[in-house]
Amino acid sequence: MGTKFDRYRVREGDKVDLCEIDADDNSAFDGGKEAATAKLDEVRDDIAVLQERLYAEDKHKVLVVLQAMDTAGKDSTIRDVFKETSPNGVHTFAFGRPSTEELAHDYLWRTHQHTPGSGQIHIFNRSHYEDVLVVRVNELVPEKTWKRRYEHISNFEQMLADEGTTILKFFLNISRDEQRERLQERVDLREKNWKFDPGDLPVRARWNDYMSAYEDAIEKTSTEQAPWFVIPANRRWYRKLAVAEIVSEALRDLDPRFPPPAAGIEGLVIE
Ligand code: ADP
Repeated sequence: MGTKFDRYRVREGDKVDLCEIDADDNSAFDGGKEAATAKLDEVRDDIAVLQERLYAEDKHKVLVVLQAMDTAGKDSTIRDVFKETSPNGVHTFAFGRPSTEELAHDYLWRTHQHTPGSGQIHIFNRSHYEDVLVVRVNELVPEKTWKRRYEHISNFEQMLADEGTTILKFFLNISRDEQRERLQERVDLREKNWKFDPGDLPVRARWNDYMSAYEDAIEKTSTEQAPWFVIPANRRWYRKLAVAEIVSEALRDLDPRFPPPAAGIEGLVIE
C-alpha cells in the first residue's frame, strides 16, 4: 500500500543531491491548492482519530523530527498537521542555541530527555541534527568530532526504535530563491516583522555549505527504522499535505486500538 507521498522517503544507500531535487514538485497530488486544502482537512481528522487511540492504548511512542532552512515552514507544519489532535498527547520541543548546561553534556543529552513515552507523539522542531549541521558549518567542534556523530545518531535512533519508538524525519526543502522571497516578506510586512531575525542572513550566506551538510546527514542516517523524507516545500499547501499524509500513514500502520473495557462494566448502570 503506502501513500503516494512515500516517494519522498530516502532509502538506505540512496544518494541525495538537494540541488537536483525540485522544491516545487507536486507530483504526488493531482488536484491543485483548493483540493489539497480539502484533502488536508480529511487527513487531519484521520490523524486526530488515530492519535486519540494511540493515547488511549498507551503503547506506541512516536517521534517526528523537523529540520529545514529558515522560513521553510517548520512551525506552520507543526500547527497545520497536528491542529486537530489533543495537546494531552502531542508535545512540541524546539531546540535553539544550547544553554550552558546543555553544552556541558554530550550533544544527545538534551534531545534524549524529550523523546516520547508510551501513548505520546513528540515533535522536534530542530533536533540533535543541528549537531551535524550548524555545528559543522560553523566549525563549532573539530571535523573528527562531528564526523563520528552520524554513527552515534544512527545508533541512538536505532536504540529508540528497538525500544518501541516510531521515528519519522522530515527535511522541508525550499529553494534559495523561495527563501529570499520569504525573508523579504518578513522585512516588508509589519505583521511578519517579528519573524525576521538578522541572524538568519549569515546562515543564508552559507546556503551551499548547509546543503552539503544536510545531504550528508540525510544520506548517512536514513534507515528503515528512522527514515528521512525530503519534502518539496516551496508550495506551502503541498508541504503540509505531504507531511500529514506520511504521518497519518505511519499512525495507521501502528494500528492503535482502544484498550478493552474494564471487567464487569457491560450493562452497568450508574446511579
Ligand atoms: P528558529 O530559527 O527555529 O525559529 P531559534 O532562532 O530559537 O529558532 O533557534 C534556532 C537557532 O539555534 C538556529 O540558528 C540554530 O542553528 C541554532 N542551534 C540549534 N541547535 C544548535 C546547536 N546544537 N549548536 C549551535 N546552534 C544551534
